[in-house]
Amino acid sequence: MAVSETKYIFVTGGVASSLGKGIISSSIGKLLQARGYKVTIQKFDPYINIDPGTLNPYEHGECYVTVDGHEADLDLGHYERFLDIQTTKANNLTTGRIYKSVIDKERRGDYLGKTVQIIPHITDEIKRDVKLLGKKYNFDFVITEIGGTVGDIESLPFLESMRQLKWELGRNALCVHLTYVPYLAAAKELKTKPTQHSVKQLQSLGIQPDILVLRTEHDLNANLRKKVALFCNVSENAVVQSIDAPTIYQVPILMHEQKLDETILEKMGYALDDTNKLDLTAWEAFLERRANAKRTVKIAMVGKYVELQDAYKSILESLSQAGTYNDCKVQIKYISSEKLNEQNVEELLSPADGVVICPGFGSRGIEGKFVAAKYQREHNRPTFGVCLGMQCMAIEFARNVLGYPDANSTEMDEKTSHPIIDLMEEQKAITNMGGTMRLGAYECVLDKKSKVYDIYGKEHIQERHRHRYEFNNDYRDAFEKAGMKGVGINPESDLIEIVEIPQLKWYIGTQFHPEYSSTVLNPHPLFVSFIKAALNK
Ligand code: GLN
Repeated sequence: MAVSETKYIFVTGGVASSLGKGIISSSIGKLLQARGYKVTIQKFDPYINIDPGTLNPYEHGECYVTVDGHEADLDLGHYERFLDIQTTKANNLTTGRIYKSVIDKERRGDYLGKTVQIIPHITDEIKRDVKLLGKKYNFDFVITEIGGTVGDIESLPFLESMRQLKWELGRNALCVHLTYVPYLAAAKELKTKPTQHSVKQLQSLGIQPDILVLRTEHDLNANLRKKVALFCNVSENAVVQSIDAPTIYQVPILMHEQKLDETILEKMGYALDDTNKLDLTAWEAFLERRANAKRTVKIAMVGKYVELQDAYKSILESLSQAGTYNDCKVQIKYISSEKLNEQNVEELLSPADGVVICPGFGSRGIEGKFVAAKYQREHNRPTFGVCLGMQCMAIEFARNVLGYPDANSTEMDEKTSHPIIDLMEEQKAITNMGGTMRLGAYECVLDKKSKVYDIYGKEHIQERHRHRYEFNNDYRDAFEKAGMKGVGINPESDLIEIVEIPQLKWYIGTQFHPEYSSTVLNPHPLFVSFIKAALNK
């Protein structure tokens, strides 16, 4: 094996968006990692926003958060879940961030009077960001997923940078292009023309893809692959299909069955020998357990972004992984918090074995979350509140147990006489939206007499945050006396990070987002325990 420099694999997409570039990138990463290589994955997003933090989840799905507090594209969630690695700010760049960095340099005079242009200044900046990641952490492979679709105006600088890098790095760089092969039902035929056009488009930019991954809903026979290889100037073994799979976690196996990992290694100058043998034992054991799961657990997710699955992507994946580790399938039902009320709550929530009260921002649908928290608490049913979900649990408790009818978060009602959830004093002074967010991993110390301590099996944990408001410690005593305990505390700020009602079977709320750190091979203990409680409710 032994090739010492970092290798760069670019993943581009053509024909249509949403073909699963993130899953293909993650699957390639997984296979290389399972051969003993140190791998990371990076995503370039061609939009002007500095980061996706300000994007509406309806448009772009969930905002993922890295340990170092970067608000990132949800594909980074796939990378972490597949590879069991932690990504950072350096793993996600946008056009906005690249331009900002170049413009800041220009203002500082770094370009010494030169005319600042897309080529070479923007492209150099992109190339620097690609290479920096490899160098800084000594990776064997850096996989760079280029967002958008070939042919978009926005992706041009990224593709040009990739062309240059391929030229400069020779065998140390490789392009995997993902396209779509549609099936025309009337003609009963699979069509490769869109793929040919998409490859032509790449070629017209000076890029010859090395490997083609064809997304399809039907099996592609050898003749069709041969034809694609011939028309697109790639070797036959470098045309692989990505067919619909029962679970995304099956994709690395499907890619390996077509020897995608071997083809990549060979093309990049590696010999296949004992030192880089594939070991997917743990991954396969997970898939087997998943396929053999017989029971089903029903989980209701109460939130306001119910139309778009991707808005709660990491929670969904965490629940589904936790299901596998409990040998059950997880059936999810979305309940719109805007539609949930005292009259329909029994009908909507009673069929569920457990309820997740979802995170979110703003007051829309908030009352429905209080209704869910109340129903679940009063009926002693497994309930997991995440971030805003935890805040709603606390507010509902204040209203209906402590007897403060207008208790609220100042995010929803600035004039409430009981601001159970509030901004910290120092945050109140900051006006910049992004500036007040608590982002990234923070320490938390667990109460040794709590359920969460038993669940984690340790006292000190670190979890990722993404919120502005906090539990107001003025109310801590009243809550604890009435039975809702702060069982996870930030040692530095003394802020409450976890609440639970010890008298109930499973009624836990976390100010942080445990879903960001649940991976296939290391499912998050809170989700595993929650599913177990739901199964045994
Ligand atoms: N809106 C709440 C806050 O900012 C909760 C945020 C969230 O659920 N991520 O504190």
